Amino acid sequence: MRTEESERKTAPGFELGPIRPPSEAYSLLIRATRNCPWNKCLFCHCYKGTSFSLRSVEEIVHDIDEAREMRDYIVEASWRLGYEGDERLAAAAILSQPYGDACLHNVALFLYAGGKSAFLQDSNTLIMRTPDLVAVLRHLRDAFPDLERVTSYSRSHTAAHKTVEELKEIREAGLVRIHIGLETGYDPLLQYIQKGTTAAQQIAAGQKIVEAGFSLSEYVMPGMGGQAMAEGHVRETARVLNEINPEFIRLRSLHIKPTMPLWSHLQDGAFQLQSEDNVVREIAGIVERLDVTSYLKSDHILNLLMEIEGKFPEDKSACLAIIDGYLGLPDEERLNFQLGRRMGYYEELSDLEDSTRFDTVSEALQRIRERSDNVEEVIRRLKDRFI
Ligand code: SF4
Repeated sequence: MRTEESERKTAPGFELGPIRPPSEAYSLLIRATRNCPWNKCLFCHCYKGTSFSLRSVEEIVHDIDEAREMRDYIVEASWRLGYEGDERLAAAAILSQPYGDACLHNVALFLYAGGKSAFLQDSNTLIMRTPDLVAVLRHLRDAFPDLERVTSYSRSHTAAHKTVEELKEIREAGLVRIHIGLETGYDPLLQYIQKGTTAAQQIAAGQKIVEAGFSLSEYVMPGMGGQAMAEGHVRETARVLNEINPEFIRLRSLHIKPTMPLWSHLQDGAFQLQSEDNVVREIAGIVERLDVTSYLKSDHILNLLMEIEGKFPEDKSACLAIIDGYLGLPDEERLNFQLGRRMGYYEELSDLEDSTRFDTVSEALQRIRERSDNVEEVIRRLKDRFI
């Protein structure tokens, strides 16, 4: 396969941005803009030190054509490898090689997953002029006619400034889902974290997006209020979500790294982290207050309880039962689970029943206590590796 790769007639590939939502892990990535036009949120380090720029329609179209050329190359390779045009098998052969060309890897991953979804990077694609975004979407749909889902990020502030008619035009051109980092619906907290939006704007943006016919994912950040603003964070976040009723509510628990501006607030004591257990209690507080028909997902690796998931309202009690199950564990078992999750031994609470894994984590816990007794700091450093 390496020989095939070296024979590929291509130009230089296409641009890739740094991040995409967890649910877009297998999507074709097309960079529509570069970095973040706001770039001030205290809890975010993704684009710090970079500056925002729009890309021209011609540049983006060029990248889409490059991705299409790579897709054609993989299909052609499937014949030369004896896979009779099965692009999934050829894509698997590429993915089994040591990581090389990032663009080819992305196209292979996309094809391996069935070639049905694409994600427009970076952080706020709706900031593009509507005619430009429509042109890009139409070209993407023409180049990849099998796409079922094209999604992107937007800021509430930006979406609130589009008219419903503009949003409908973008929807009709082929953008299916918009991901928004709501984080919180509590105005004092939105101001503190420098989110650059208000609860009223989050509601207006969300309602317009839903009215225009999009699937909407709202990302909520349990723990974001720290100890001081937890109560308002929980109450107002649930209220704003109830007003919007998005298709998806996704949990992405706060974690603070030294690369984030919020780190200095943590160091000087201005911001005090919630414990892992209190973050779980915050999720329970939001879930209890939800009056929506959304799907709740806990699909970010930073969440302690990934199994909190379900369609509301029918699965609300099941979600709360999972939380109660965790909070009802003895202290030592909860700590064992927290550590084991971050070490990679557990995926869900039921994994605690595996005595081999439980004993392994207990031994690690014992060693940490003998060395420093700062289990919370060890867990914090383990989480640093996730983002
Ligand atoms: S708007 Fe999004 S990408 Fe930009 S700084 Fe805030 S969280 Fe980060």
